[in-house]
Amino acid sequence: MKKNQHFLVVGGGVAGIAVSKHLIDQDQHVTLVENGQNKSSTVAAGMINPIVFRRMTKSWRVDEFLPYCNVFYRFFETIAQHQLFCPITIRRFFSSEQERQFWLDKQDQPDFSNYLNSVSTEDLHFSRANNPFGSGRLNGSSYVQTIPFVNAGISWINMNGNVIQENFDFMQFDPFLLQYKQTTYDGVVFCEGVGVVNNPYFKRLPVQHTKGETITVSSKELKTIESYNRKCFILPHGNDTYRVGATYVWNTLDDTITPEGRKELEEKFQVVTDAAYSVIDQQAGVRPTTPDRRPVVGEHPEFEGLYIFNGLGTKGYMIAPLLAKEFVNQLLNGLPFDPETALNRFKIL
Ligand SMILES: Cc1cc2nc3c(=O)[nH]c(=O)nc-3n(C[C@H](O)[C@H](O)[C@H](O)COP(=O)(O)OP(=O)(O)OC[C@H]3O[C@@H](n4cnc5c(N)ncnc54)[C@H](O)[C@@H]3O)c2cc1C
Repeated sequence: MKKNQHFLVVGGGVAGIAVSKHLIDQDQHVTLVENGQNKSSTVAAGMINPIVFRRMTKSWRVDEFLPYCNVFYRFFETIAQHQLFCPITIRRFFSSEQERQFWLDKQDQPDFSNYLNSVSTEDLHFSRANNPFGSGRLNGSSYVQTIPFVNAGISWINMNGNVIQENFDFMQFDPFLLQYKQTTYDGVVFCEGVGVVNNPYFKRLPVQHTKGETITVSSKELKTIESYNRKCFILPHGNDTYRVGATYVWNTLDDTITPEGRKELEEKFQVVTDAAYSVIDQQAGVRPTTPDRRPVVGEHPEFEGLYIFNGLGTKGYMIAPLLAKEFVNQLLNGLPFDPETALNRFKIL
């Protein structure tokens, strides 16, 4: 593996930060171009949930991703001088007898017992929220303080490389020479999230645009340090405030807040609790998703040295740290990319 190569990374969300971090860790020089229009990583609630409740299955590769999240986000805590990685109990309110039975069936299976607490009598009769079917508590869940994380990530890259605040100008990029403006690079990694739609080399990828909205509510009555989950998540944010999310609207790049989004989330909040509340803020962003719900990682079939790291979907905060480490290792050592996430599963030419 060659050291001191110069990489250009485009996009400073969780994807671009994770890729830059691992390149720098491998003694490479990084220039990050970021246009400050973040649509996803700074809007996200940053929740890391090991279980897909709808199907009561484990999240993809959770046993590998979770331990590495701890290492990665704790590193940036030392930069931010602020807690970024916050373990939290998620309490799932069962939506039916069948869902409760699924949990009871799985809680003692070795594969799930790290994550599913055994349902206690107290969980079944938990009275601080509306839950006719009882509830169960998850272990191993956490959330990332997303805005301080992105700020810490960008400032760490600036200290150890170079950050340029601008919109990447494709007119000034030569993909044969890997030259941007006056500088020639050894590799260029595009991590633009849904901004990939404007990228002439990768725009044919089926990265879809899945809009999401959240609201922040203030409630003196709710009083929980657990995150509640049923139809929506309710995530405590301190001082009696809670993030509530998220909505899903497919195939739109519109990232504005809407009255419909707020109404939907308020209705879902009221399914969980009848605590009095007021909405104090609302957020919207667009997730980069793919048809098979897997990220998309690899080298352009025509232009050597042109890479993509995208498609993190709804779980970017859990997936990005380790996947970026693996990607950088494959890229620097000329190893094949994992077929499950490889770019070549899609036709882009
Ligand atoms: C409402 C909502 C809630 C979410 N909640 C969670 C959650 O709880 N947990 C979780 O894990 N995930 C969550 N997600 C998903 C998560 O946000 C994404 O998986 C992740 O942020 C994608 O990261 P990214 O870096 O690929 O994209 P982005 O965060 O969009 O970053 C791409 C960056 O590239 C920049 N860029 C694009 N084009 C250019 C250009 N031409 N020049 C320069 N810069 C450019 C953009 O400005 C942006 O900063 C949520 C998303 C939304 C919208």
